[in-house]
Amino acid sequence: MGSGQKLVTIAVVTRVRTEGSPKAEVVAELPRDTEVEVLINGDPFVQISAWRAERGRVAGWVHRSFLSGLEGAGTAPERTQIVDPPCNACGALNWVHTPAERFIHLSLLNLVGVRHRICTSCGLVQECIGAKEIEEVKSWQQSRTT
Ligand SMILES: [Zn+2]
Repeated sequence: MGSGQKLVTIAVVTRVRTEGSPKAEVVAELPRDTEVEVLINGDPFVQISAWRAERGRVAGWVHRSFLSGLEGAGTAPERTQIVDPPCNACGALNWVHTPAERFIHLSLLNLVGVRHRICTSCGLVQECIGAKEIEEVKSWQQSRTT
């Protein structure tokens, strides 16, 4: 539970590791107040992903003591912006979004969270990604074609 929750780093430097172990290789260092998305809310290590301007999205494991607000795991509002079309079964715009449930790997450390939208009028369920994720896919596409 708690997947998709947004937290911020509270230490001066938070090391992101390849596995949930203090001995695992460090894949990134995040400065204080970096926003991270919880992928797996483990204990004591939490799998997160974070956007780094110079590298794109990085994912790995950090010790939960370096993150704020974990007490409320799973209760944070979903802030990912999703641009929804009308339901293609009933035409309503009554979508509810789940948190990200699986992740597409654009590269080893570049993950895009895929969520479902559920039409509360007719029950249609679709997979979708958010506006921010669409931008990440576009920049990934550009990096491959230039
Ligand atoms: Zn519908």
